[in-house]
Amino acid sequence: MIMKNIPPYRGFEQGPIRPPSEAESLLIRITRNCPWNRCTFCPVYKGASFSLRPLEHILSDIDAVKTCVDMIVAARQNGSRYFGDFLKQRVADESALHAAYHFVAGGMKSIFLQDGNSLIIKPADLITILRHLKMLFPEVERITSYGRSHTIARISDDNLAMMAEAGLNRIHIGMESGSDTVLKRVRKGVDKATQIVAGQKVKRAGMELSEYIMPGLGGISLSKEHALESADALNQINPDFIRLRSLALPVAAPLTDEHAAGGFDKMGEVDTARELLLFLESLEGITSTVKSDHVLNLFSEVDGVLPSDREKMTAPIRKFLALPEADQVVFCIGRRTHRLARVDDLDNPDLYQAVKRLCDSFGATIGNLDDITQAIARRFI
Ligand code: SF4
Repeated sequence: MIMKNIPPYRGFEQGPIRPPSEAESLLIRITRNCPWNRCTFCPVYKGASFSLRPLEHILSDIDAVKTCVDMIVAARQNGSRYFGDFLKQRVADESALHAAYHFVAGGMKSIFLQDGNSLIIKPADLITILRHLKMLFPEVERITSYGRSHTIARISDDNLAMMAEAGLNRIHIGMESGSDTVLKRVRKGVDKATQIVAGQKVKRAGMELSEYIMPGLGGISLSKEHALESADALNQINPDFIRLRSLALPVAAPLTDEHAAGGFDKMGEVDTARELLLFLESLEGITSTVKSDHVLNLFSEVDGVLPSDREKMTAPIRKFLALPEADQVVFCIGRRTHRLARVDDLDNPDLYQAVKRLCDSFGATIGNLDDITQAIARRFI
């Protein structure tokens, strides 16, 4: 008999990121970091090596959170108002206690499996984890995970259906682009055809599918191709959600160095708005919900269901593009400094004048707008 050499359990773990829509979810770490880790726009796991966590450790994390959740719920039911210190003294793992507080405060409705590509573990292990979660937290309505298209395309339909049945009901895929040229240039490690196969498989398995698109990723030279090919890939998938996460250039991303060396023609705010309009107008024959739920996106108004909300979603972009350049500057600076939320806020004279004064203090013009907004964006990435 082969004995497994399992390293000692060192307590509850949490990874660095989750999708914005999983802000209230319990985060359960299945793997550490990203098995691919070569995308040039992505800073998240650079310098960190990938590893699988032993199944036993993951189940121990889940048990530890369950113990904490039960204690918190019991303390609340008993009307103990000041139970924080009391619980801290009684639980062995403070990280699990923090995760449990967060989960209870969020209503215990959803769980997100970390890190960058949980579907890479053995399907049988993932199904064991999902069943354990459902057994301990039967009230949970949603269990979700990031998944790479490259990985999902290689999972059999039967295994995906079993994962869905065990409780995995939403997958977040970072498609980023449907253009093979863009995907190759940013080293995404997957092509358009594989992205389509993976997306269609998730849908066939009966899970909800969130596809992330990155406006600006093609740069100036590939902007049109990026918009049209991304829309075409999504038109063939019809995901439940299309989520926008605009390109930024964070310090740790290799693409930032490439840009500094003159190898990447980053788009400005106005060109990115034009690209986004073309992308949205090219989505056809699908019923996806489009969300602009990331702080880096210029237009928070892009939020609706296709096809009925297309006009509502694209009108603010058209209005922005028709503005005089000076007002485009005001909107971009106002939005990036969180003084304006929507293009229509420009119609409020007090708000407009306040942001105009700010622009004047920066010396902002259409010529230096992108340098200024890039510097502001760095605070959020
Ligand atoms: S696959 Fe995802 S997590 Fe991994 S490097 Fe690419 S973008 Fe980052």
